Amino acid sequence: MQVLPITTEVLHCEMDRDCASDVTHIGSKGYLYCANHAPDRRPGEGCRALKGWEIALLESGQPVPSYKPISFKTYLITKNKRNLDGYNLS
Ligand SMILES: [Zn+2]
Repeated sequence: MQVLPITTEVLHCEMDRDCASDVTHIGSKGYLYCANHAPDRRPGEGCRALKGWEIALLESGQPVPSYKPISFKTYLITKNKRNLDGYNLS
């Protein structure tokens, strides 16, 4: 039986479906690219390198919160606030 790593389905360069390189960049429209394909993104689409904690999020199956870079601390605060809102505690 072949066991595939859990990241195979989640982390995928969206420039080329056959691209097997690791995702390292995010475009302004939320598409994910590898370092090789990031410079070839659609004209007019911004692109930036993902931070380490953002890649860790993707590997755990969660989306990157925003194309606009935020700090990990801001992410945690926003996430906690959202959870609290969900329980009507705010
Ligand atoms: Zn690629």
